[in-house]
Amino acid sequence: MSTAGTRMVTRSWSRGPGVGPRGSGKEAAPLPRGKSASAEGRKSNHPVKRHRKTQSLKVAYEASDGEKGEGIKVPSWEPQDWQQHLANIRTMRSEKDAPVDQLGAEHCYDRSVPPKVQRYQVLLSLMLSSQTKDQVTAGAMQRLRARGLTVDNILQTDDSTLGALIYPVGFWRSKVKYIKQTSAILQQNYGGDIPASVAELMALPGVGPKMAHLAMAVAWGTVSGIAAVDTHVHRIANRLRWTKKVTKSPEETRAALEDWLPRDLWSEINGLLVGFGQQICLPVRPRCQTCLNQALCPAAEGL
Ligand code: SF4
Repeated sequence: MSTAGTRMVTRSWSRGPGVGPRGSGKEAAPLPRGKSASAEGRKSNHPVKRHRKTQSLKVAYEASDGEKGEGIKVPSWEPQDWQQHLANIRTMRSEKDAPVDQLGAEHCYDRSVPPKVQRYQVLLSLMLSSQTKDQVTAGAMQRLRARGLTVDNILQTDDSTLGALIYPVGFWRSKVKYIKQTSAILQQNYGGDIPASVAELMALPGVGPKMAHLAMAVAWGTVSGIAAVDTHVHRIANRLRWTKKVTKSPEETRAALEDWLPRDLWSEINGLLVGFGQQICLPVRPRCQTCLNQALCPAAEGL
């Protein structure tokens, strides 16, 4: 099972209603969801014992993503106090009232349309969300959905109209081109659906690894990696010393987290940390005084 692009299932996890493998004859419904770090001083982190409960989790992943298919990996290192950090963040995020909870790209699709169209809308919203605030992505998706957001409709929409509909998302001109090209490929090669592997998704124009992993999680209910390590996750992981070394980019942080973070947490961690970063662990002047992790956080002092 080491063939690149081959998905592996290491544990079983309920994917949500209607989710089934491609070709099973059943439509799969998208799942609802749920100061420079390098400038900060670091403390050494010591291995700590982990007490993990057996969970019912289905995790499919791809050899092409760097996994060798060896099954559950026991990390040689994990951050000090990370379980308590996580429990505290869950408590602080219990209201689910951060912008990401309402407006994230994964919330912008229409749940009343057929599953195949929902998946297309998930992919479109992810493409629009790159370099774009959640509110702007949500507005563009609302305008597109009002006209009927399907592969056919997009292909019949001229570029200037499509541009006016998605403006002012970041790089909107390029996105018009990518959306058209991707929609044509989906129509020709996938019957209007989206592909169900990270490798195939990343082969689509304008779709990067972060979007591909998120699309797998939201549209197909398949955890293929830590879906989206953005600047919030990158910053917080470094502040809490959740990476063995200081990381310099979100992509580096994603790889560092995947080295030790239990797979059954991969689908949860992004939304949890993004909202935490929007509300408490802000980029500038984090609200350490109100943070439940203040006593445990190596970065709390001096911020
Ligand atoms: S104590 Fe401050 S820096 Fe540390 S996690 Fe909380 S808000 Fe972020």
